[in-house]
Amino acid sequence: MSLKSKFIGALIGSAIGDALGAPLEGNSMEEVNSVYGEDWKMISGRYTDDTEMMIGVAESLIENRGFNGADMAAKFIQNYHARRGYGPGTKEALRRIREGESWEEASGKLFGGKGSYGNGAAMRIAPVGIFYYDNADKLREIAYKSSHVTHSHELGKEGAALQAFSIALAVQGTEKEAMLHDLKEFVKNVIYKEKLRKIEALLAKEADKKAIISELGNGEEAFNSVPTAIYSFLRFDSFKDAVVYAISLGGDADTIGAMTGAISGAYYGEGAIPEEWEEKLEEGKKGRSYIKWLAEELYRVKFYNV
Ligand SMILES: [Mg+2]
Repeated sequence: MSLKSKFIGALIGSAIGDALGAPLEGNSMEEVNSVYGEDWKMISGRYTDDTEMMIGVAESLIENRGFNGADMAAKFIQNYHARRGYGPGTKEALRRIREGESWEEASGKLFGGKGSYGNGAAMRIAPVGIFYYDNADKLREIAYKSSHVTHSHELGKEGAALQAFSIALAVQGTEKEAMLHDLKEFVKNVIYKEKLRKIEALLAKEADKKAIISELGNGEEAFNSVPTAIYSFLRFDSFKDAVVYAISLGGDADTIGAMTGAISGAYYGEGAIPEEWEEKLEEGKKGRSYIKWLAEELYRVKFYNV
């Protein structure tokens, strides 16, 4: 499968997971299953803050041929629409930057000076995962820096780096069996190391959804959602099954859907994404065609440097 198809799959997959999960954000596992039932037709196709910010990350990487923190923050601010459902920490960080604070300093002032460990940096990281898929050190550096614009807590940054590296391994076509090993080698924080061990144990026994939610989580903290997305990807053999499963866990469904969609799209390529979902994904100025174009641009900048 072509690398370009994987690049497109990662970004479109992320947006589709977001849009599929969006109507269900904050619902319990039981409620989700009563809305979607067996069918899983996409309800609205509208994406949320996850995708709006992912678009900003991609735009900035393309325009700057790499990372530029001030510009990435500016892109987030330009693209911002409150109705997309931003979290309070991100809103506050972007407000501070808009009012003149530097992108290096704004996010560190949140949550009593500890910074956010929410999943808001991991949810938008797909462009970093594909653009730096062949360089783990650079990927980690840029994942941390791009997180820092809004999420400066170590756990928020590490979650973004882990999600980005999962996407990178998926682009490389790493065998699923080898992936957990590579992720364990990559991750530095002990909380994530423990989660990866749990993923391995849970995969070995085909655990039920309640166990996944209690062991891996379905919440807004990066460490309670990134591992859940990785698990959802590893457990199933198709884009559709992985994303449906991730969202069916409820909780922060749009973000866990987006992260699972990004890894799965990068692994299986655009062709594996159900057409009816892609067609239902919103169009317009920064809709599905634009997202696809961003993936093609990232590919072009990376490999042709023009
Ligand atoms: Mg969202």
